[in-house]
Amino acid sequence: MKLHEYQAKEIFRRYHIRVPAGEVAGSVDKVIESARNINGPPWVVKAQVHAGGRGKAGGVRIADSLEQLKQAAKEILGRPLISEQTGPEGKRVTKLLIEEAVEIERELYLAMTIDRSKAEPVIIFSQVGGMDIEEVARVSPEQLMNEHIPFDMGWSPFVAKKLAYGLDPLPGPNTLKELTNIISRLYTVFMELDCSLAEINPLVTTKKGDVIALDAKINIDDNALFRRKAMADLDDPLEKEHLEREAAKYHLNYIKLDGNIGAMVNGAGLAMATMDLIKMAGAEPANFLDVGGGASEEMVTKGLEIILMDEKVKAIFINIFGGILRCDVLARGVLAAAEKTHIKVPVIVRLEGTNVEDGRKILEESDLKFMVAKDMNEAADLVTRAVSITV
Ligand code: ADP
Ligand code: MG
Repeated sequence: MKLHEYQAKEIFRRYHIRVPAGEVAGSVDKVIESARNINGPPWVVKAQVHAGGRGKAGGVRIADSLEQLKQAAKEILGRPLISEQTGPEGKRVTKLLIEEAVEIERELYLAMTIDRSKAEPVIIFSQVGGMDIEEVARVSPEQLMNEHIPFDMGWSPFVAKKLAYGLDPLPGPNTLKELTNIISRLYTVFMELDCSLAEINPLVTTKKGDVIALDAKINIDDNALFRRKAMADLDDPLEKEHLEREAAKYHLNYIKLDGNIGAMVNGAGLAMATMDLIKMAGAEPANFLDVGGGASEEMVTKGLEIILMDEKVKAIFINIFGGILRCDVLARGVLAAAEKTHIKVPVIVRLEGTNVEDGRKILEESDLKFMVAKDMNEAADLVTRAVSITV
């Protein structure tokens, strides 16, 4: 689960990681009102969307007067912001963060995440932070310093010192002390809140020797939300695709994609394999949908309904392994959904597992023209055929 910058900064404040004074606002009037409480001009106004690359996309503006601030707020608010990370349709901005402008001396990069290959948390630090960090990682990865923190070792302040003292030129003693404190505090945030990512880019130093987090990104591990109620409450439903919101109500694991072949599968692994199969057939999946091992007839119906709400969908591929979910139950669910939603697109079904013969029979004998495949190969052929008809 992603947090907004303003929410992540609120958390940083609690953990004594310094951030600029700021307020969040949902209207132009509130932006102006907030500015009166914050040192300035200049002020910085920042679009609050779950995506990076806002600076380059015009979602972060400096305003030298109330008039400019009003103008910037008007231009950003209520419109989609299209950045490198939002996809072509962009993300509609409903909230702005107004901040004091900080006089930047150096822009550093600091982040903590899980290194999955080692199954350990890792801190990444670099003295070339800022808006081009992806480019730096690509062309000169040696500019990034990594320190792994094995779970059984726990925190050692030495790690923070090692990173901070890697800076060249070395900052003054106060800055160094503040920097090592911030690295330690970010580790605490990461561990205490079950983060999958905690990133500060840029982390800046000022001429006065202060170290301030100008940006803040926190992702919470979804699997830990059950024990992080306060974090789960920060979820912003406006950030989700409306179909994803709908799916979440029924505990369906649905992610919208850009293609035109809808897929309904049980089990995340099979869902991935199915997406590969769709791609190999020369098409693009319209979604990832895992209805779960123990899905009920109702969930199958809802899953199909959601796939069909996506206007791009030109064919549907249902690929189910009937373990806990029996194939005959699934077949009835598919039938019920097909009747309810008046499916007009071709539906390819591949079933395997418990009561598979019954399941296939139900589908084959129905008045609706399902294409029932007996195995993955045949399913792939049918998908290929459906693609050639629909594109
Ligand atoms: P993004 O990463 O989405 O582009 P940032 O929050 O990192 O957004 O802002 C982009 C750039 O804008 C930063 O690299 C920094 O140079 C500048 N910036 C952001 N906030 C402030 C601020 N409060 N004062 C001064 N400059 C800022
Ligand atoms: Mg940033």
